[in-house]
Amino acid sequence: MTTTDPRRAIPRTDVLLAHPALAAAIPELGMPRVRAAVRAAQARARSGEIGPDEVAGSARSEIAHAREVPISLRRVLNATGVLVHTNLGRAPLTEAAIEAIRVAAGYVDVEFDVGTGARAQRGRGALDALLSAVPGAKAALVVNNGAAALALAASALAAGREVVVSRGELIEIGDGFRLPDLLESTGARLREVGTTNRTHLADYRAAVGPDTGFVLKVHPSNFRVNGFTRTVGCAELSHALSENEIPLVVDIGSGLLQSDPMLPEEPDAASTLADGADLVTASGDKLLGGPQAGIVLGRADLIERLRRHPLARALRVDKLTLAALESTLTGPPTGVERALHTSADEMHSRTIGFARALGDIDAEVVAATGAVGGGGAPGVPLPGWAVAIPETYAVPLRTGRPCVVARTHAGRCLIDLRCIDPVDEPALAARVREIAEGGS
Ligand SMILES: *Cc1c(COP(=O)(O)O)cnc(C)c1O
Repeated sequence: MTTTDPRRAIPRTDVLLAHPALAAAIPELGMPRVRAAVRAAQARARSGEIGPDEVAGSARSEIAHAREVPISLRRVLNATGVLVHTNLGRAPLTEAAIEAIRVAAGYVDVEFDVGTGARAQRGRGALDALLSAVPGAKAALVVNNGAAALALAASALAAGREVVVSRGELIEIGDGFRLPDLLESTGARLREVGTTNRTHLADYRAAVGPDTGFVLKVHPSNFRVNGFTRTVGCAELSHALSENEIPLVVDIGSGLLQSDPMLPEEPDAASTLADGADLVTASGDKLLGGPQAGIVLGRADLIERLRRHPLARALRVDKLTLAALESTLTGPPTGVERALHTSADEMHSRTIGFARALGDIDAEVVAATGAVGGGGAPGVPLPGWAVAIPETYAVPLRTGRPCVVARTHAGRCLIDLRCIDPVDEPALAARVREIAEGGS
């Protein structure tokens, strides 16, 4: 290259990235995409296709194109204090799980034994991790979600036969989806027993017989019935059913694998199996804190029947889910777990620090109660704190960048930091200040 080579005049990457129009695109599209646009424009100039003075403009049109095909999902800062928020994608994955997905995204030995060069059991790492986490389970299976786990159990164990279930456990899980409809769609017939508030062991005893595929217990994970109530526990039910070898399937919902002292009422897989359940089904992205998945744990012969059912192939999970699930089970504490176990005192000092970072905005630290959410532990309050600011902040917070979803209550906007990663706090505070200063 000579000193007069026009290519020497091509603007450097850092100069271009500081260009206002390009710099403004970084928070929206991300540095990699903006940098890629810049590099593409520089390459065009290097090849002589455009002049050095056209590089910035070319990068801008690359960015305009990138805007036309963005990913439609946007990152949300969950300031609601609700841990498992279905509308916000339920559990946030750990960095370790995200890294596991990155690894699994390429060619991987998901169904291959590198030692022998032969086919191997799909997802054995995730299955082993499940069995280590719940030693009482003899076998495990992973499917698309909790609903798929139930549908597969009903298809494999009760198609053309009866599923015996209490009327108090026929739940709607959200968006109009109802477990009874799901079960019946498999060809199983529902045999409802008891009443909404009270079901006795005698009700189950009277209903089971040669036509029973299994008895189902469902954890009412999004509501509570108080007052004059009676349910039959797993231990009692399993004992009664063992006489006629009728399987007991328990949908625990939230995917808590071991009991958690914070949530004494929430059923967990280990205790439910110890109480005599033959199969336990659960979701992967509620209290378990992992990717969307349906987990089935329990008796090896029953799991094998589910695994060999034709529908199992249609409900199986991809390698990305298997990777994220294994990492969730073997890796660091999940975001859900950390948010659940943050004490009120810790929340208080974080919230006070955050309120200070807002400067002279009309903000007050107030007591606020977090919740696990529709994914489990209904009615269990998580005592904590929030920063209350005027309600007028709620819409700009939600529609701006970063996108912040907060709660509004009694004319105020409550920012609860429980589900916010501390590294995101400065950006959140900056956004509130920006709105206060009249930014939109
Ligand atoms: C959430 C839930 C389901 C559905 O699980 P998905 O993973 O959302 O399909 C089923 N049963 C119970 C008890 C639940 O809480």
